[in-house]
Amino acid sequence: ARKYVVKKHFQGVPKKEDFELVEQELPPLKDGEFLAKAEWISVDPYLRAYNSRQSVPYDQFSFQVAVVTETKHPDYPVGTRIVSHKGWRDYTILNPNVAPKELNDKFYKLPDLQGLSPSLGVGAVGMPGASAYLGFLDLCKPKPGETVVVTGAAGAVGSLVGQIAKIKGCRVIGFAGSDDKVQWLEKELGFDKAFNYKTVDIRKAHQEAAPKGVDCYFDNVGGEISSIIMSQMNSFGRVSVCGSISSYNEDPSKMPKATILQPSLVFKQLKVEGFMIWSWDARWNEAYVELVKWIKSGQLKTREHVTEGFDKLYDAFVGMLAGENSGKAVVKV
Ligand code: NDP
Repeated sequence: ARKYVVKKHFQGVPKKEDFELVEQELPPLKDGEFLAKAEWISVDPYLRAYNSRQSVPYDQFSFQVAVVTETKHPDYPVGTRIVSHKGWRDYTILNPNVAPKELNDKFYKLPDLQGLSPSLGVGAVGMPGASAYLGFLDLCKPKPGETVVVTGAAGAVGSLVGQIAKIKGCRVIGFAGSDDKVQWLEKELGFDKAFNYKTVDIRKAHQEAAPKGVDCYFDNVGGEISSIIMSQMNSFGRVSVCGSISSYNEDPSKMPKATILQPSLVFKQLKVEGFMIWSWDARWNEAYVELVKWIKSGQLKTREHVTEGFDKLYDAFVGMLAGENSGKAVVKV
């Protein structure tokens, strides 16, 4: 088997030399075990964000959809698809009878995708889908007619949040990093308005697009843009803080001081709440059932940015951090 090991703590943008591709001889299967071959491997922002919290070296974790190729477990016949957190590796031996010691040991059978691509198991019907569905609906509690703003709007999570908000009858404004992404959001995903945050005056654009203010903000990026959006929210607005990718490659000691947010929070009586989707893993299935239904009915569109080849994982990862993806960035092994 082959796996990627992270050897160093990243400085700025992760470098190819921070990773090492390691070959590993796998032992023969014991009773109760099965061998799974990775088909789709995910590259996500948290792989960057969690790096400083790990002690090095460590195996690069992430979600993968894998298919059982050899088995000594009756409930996992050859051909069964599973979703594990075994990350950037091609072959893995798993044993469903052993209780997981840590997150990386957990896995589940791929939900019934009703004929949709198994790759969705790391995207719209995987952790990013659960984050969009639960993180938005539970924390923002959107009501029909309300105005919702999403940053990172063309990404895996953001593109779903905007569409879920439309399904719930909201007016949706998105911010993303290229004109092509803006086109996709407005023309294909039904966003009421989208902006390229790299080229517009954010405060002005935001005011024009939401003259009656904003009720819900789904924050994927943090930083200055989030401070501007929060300063323009309506009283009793709700903010779901999902991520802060604008700072993941920054040195924490050199980050600019945050704009003072307290006056907006106090005077507008905002509710700002962060979440970790891991804490809600017992509810992911609830999200998956609804998401599959919406995708099948055409109410929810998914796009994937597919990079081919196990040896291209690093390129796919830094490409995603640089904004090359529309929709979910995923590697086809
Ligand atoms: P995306 O598919 O959105 O990919 C990352 C995107 O971030 C890029 O495509 C890029 O798009 C954008 N980006 C990169 N740098 C910046 C920057 N400096 N400022 C603004 N945008 C930037 O990833 P995900 O959908 O998987 O994740 C989105 C966010 O959600 C991340 O912050 C992630 O950490 C978080 N997350 C949190 C979870 C939780 O449990 N709290 C669970 C899952 C995700 P662009 O071209 O628009 O710049």
